[in-house]
Amino acid sequence: MFQSERLELVGLRTIKPPWRTARSGLRLPALLFLCAAGACAAAMFAPGVAPAQDKGTLNPEPLPPLAHPDDPKNLAKEAFGRMMTPAAMPPRPIGSYAKGCLAGGAALPLTGPNWQVMRVSRNRNWGHPSLIAFLERLASQAPATGWRGLLLGDMSQPRGGPMLAGHASHQIGLDADIWLTPMPDRELSRQEREEMMATLVVGESRKEVEPKVWTPAHVALIKAAAQDPLVARIFINGAIKKALCRDAGSDRRWLHKVQPWYGHDWHFHVRLQCPPGEKECHGQPPRPLNEDCQTKDLDGWIELPKPGANPDAKPAPPPRPGPRVSELPAACRQVLKVP
Ligand SMILES: [Zn+2]
Repeated sequence: MFQSERLELVGLRTIKPPWRTARSGLRLPALLFLCAAGACAAAMFAPGVAPAQDKGTLNPEPLPPLAHPDDPKNLAKEAFGRMMTPAAMPPRPIGSYAKGCLAGGAALPLTGPNWQVMRVSRNRNWGHPSLIAFLERLASQAPATGWRGLLLGDMSQPRGGPMLAGHASHQIGLDADIWLTPMPDRELSRQEREEMMATLVVGESRKEVEPKVWTPAHVALIKAAAQDPLVARIFINGAIKKALCRDAGSDRRWLHKVQPWYGHDWHFHVRLQCPPGEKECHGQPPRPLNEDCQTKDLDGWIELPKPGANPDAKPAPPPRPGPRVSELPAACRQVLKVP
């Protein structure tokens, strides 16, 4: 694992153990919208940790406008978190996965032949056109893998950039979270998309996948995603990577792209490489070709609950402010300004 990769995804090492985030059902999204007064516990997550499952809302309220919207000293998450529409510019990812923005974002339709977008109220079904094309491609391959279709979690905001809550990366329209829950055989209602919870794939011990949940179709779907030539990395829980190593069979030339990570026990995170010719897009070096299946290394990614600890005893740490607009690549100011 590259140190730079860890830094990029996590920011500071204020990791919230996944066993705590996975159990909390109290948080509501304070994302693009304000929650009803009093109903919002501090709904922020440690940077870079896969967010716990949050319900969305059927009645989002817009955030109040910023006093000085053009001030480069504004926190970038406050500015980009208020952008409800894409920047009408040619599509280009600007900066890096964890510090940048997106020009010319495209939306993945909320429902497709083999996919459904979840948590519609978050307005995070945006990405670079190459991400939209990848997701449509993977969705069309899904049935052949035994997976009916994709339930999509967060992609990017309409103009990318830092978010008010949830992710350190997902900033340049090249990251997407895909649920590890099979898509039901029907179109989900808006309420179900906001409130249905994903199934945890990691068992109580946190060391192994839950055998009653884990299926060959999980392996086949993740393999299909990893084999896509545009995919640079897939982040997934260490216990799930262990199961992939065990169940991959003889064709293992895709396992090196699967990076074990904390959390990520109800979804996996797909990261595309920078599209060719995008000079302002700062990607990462490719993962080494080693399949990375040594148990001792994988165990290092598994955080176990401390015996007797009450996982809900401590409040979540306060959110980090993140960069100011002036600290993002200069082109991101233009992305904020265009209609
Ligand atoms: Zn993600």
